[in-house]
Amino acid sequence: MDLNLTAEELSFRDELRAWLKANVPKDWDEFREAAMEPRFEYLKIWQRKLYEGGWAGLSWPKAYGGRGASLMQQVIFWQEMALADAPPMANVLGLGLIGPTIIAFGTEAQKTRFLRKILSAEEIWCQGFSEPDAGSDLANLRCEGRLEGDHYVVNGQKVWNSYGWAADWCELVVRTDPNVPKHKGITMLLVDMKTPGVEVRPLRQMTGETEFNEIFFHDVRVPVENLVGKVNEGWAAAIGTLMHERGTFGAGLQIIYQRNMARLIELSRTIQHNGRPAAQDPLMRQKLAQCYAEIEIMRMNQMRAFSRINATGVPGPEGSIQKIFWSELNQRFQQVAQELLGPYGQLEGDDPHAIDKGAWSYGYLRTRGNTIEAGTSEIQRNIIGHFVLGLPKSY
Ligand SMILES: Cc1cc2nc3c(=O)[nH]c(=O)nc-3n(C[C@H](O)[C@H](O)[C@H](O)COP(=O)(O)OP(=O)(O)OC[C@H]3O[C@@H](n4cnc5c(N)ncnc54)[C@H](O)[C@@H]3O)c2cc1C
Repeated sequence: MDLNLTAEELSFRDELRAWLKANVPKDWDEFREAAMEPRFEYLKIWQRKLYEGGWAGLSWPKAYGGRGASLMQQVIFWQEMALADAPPMANVLGLGLIGPTIIAFGTEAQKTRFLRKILSAEEIWCQGFSEPDAGSDLANLRCEGRLEGDHYVVNGQKVWNSYGWAADWCELVVRTDPNVPKHKGITMLLVDMKTPGVEVRPLRQMTGETEFNEIFFHDVRVPVENLVGKVNEGWAAAIGTLMHERGTFGAGLQIIYQRNMARLIELSRTIQHNGRPAAQDPLMRQKLAQCYAEIEIMRMNQMRAFSRINATGVPGPEGSIQKIFWSELNQRFQQVAQELLGPYGQLEGDDPHAIDKGAWSYGYLRTRGNTIEAGTSEIQRNIIGHFVLGLPKSY
């Protein structure tokens, strides 16, 4: 495993570092814990700036407005973004999942029509995969797409759609043939969210936000030119999207975890436990040290995974290992934070006694979803069991 950066990678890092130093907005702290809508508008403007600077869609081919960056350059990008405390980009699903799917499976007309507007955040995307009876078992989906002349007529329901409230477009998987084995009758469509018959309803989470939604489709007419790949072969495109969910994003997460850890250690010197700083509480010290060790393990695992992909060109089972590790580690860490901060840690942003504008309360509640989104921990373990350990398939 070679962890050293090449001369080319170092020069990429320095160029990016200088750009971030000059361009990361100074007022990000005011918006960090702001309400969902104004925060999102702020992130759209930030993404536009990154796009204009040539930093959006790093891994995408140059022909489609990307930078054609190597895997290691993508890792450097996420690390530098986190180190500079830069805001995240707004069009998370468009950039990370849907754009790459259109690049791999879409027509040239679709690539021309959609890709640049994803990069510039001019059009925001959501992912319409899950349904009330199709989550881990996605192939069970029932939302219907019926061909009528030169349109598909869509009827049914999707659920847990992140960014549904903000989306201009949806990457939707529908059932186009109910009479074949369930993986075979699925088709992927690109749906304009302003089409008559699309109804978005908010779902409130325990954080208080309505980050995701239900989407109902009532006789929604989708032109056939918005079909991705081939009719009844949408499963391959859907799996392509899901594979992108385990990208290089974890590289940035590790730095964010390190920063949260440093902040918690700082707080442990002033927060009192039984009349002395929490940092002097022997049990709390053990727990902090354990979190620190686990965040280091995450870093090492990531370097091993990236080093392997660099050497072989293909992602290995590390994607599932990483997904389990970062999501469960974040839950353990936020639990320790709550124990250390005590009742003040539960206060939300607008309370005058809230710590760090309620970031710890939000962080604790939001981590619960980490082990569900992008495939549950049980499903990741099934993938490792079957594809790595060679155990029989789970049913
Ligand atoms: C924050 C968040 C954002 C999301 N964003 C989106 C989005 O943008 N678009 C979208 O389409 N979906 C989204 N989802 C939905 C997500 O993909 C599903 O919640 C997830 O796939 C699990 O499906 P489910 O909720 O139907 O649970 P189920 O599949 O019903 O699972 C219930 C429980 O059973 C377990 N289980 C199921 N099958 C097995 C098995 N074979 N072996 C062992 N255990 C099993 C699961 O691990 C889980 O604990 C989001 C979810 C969250 C939490």
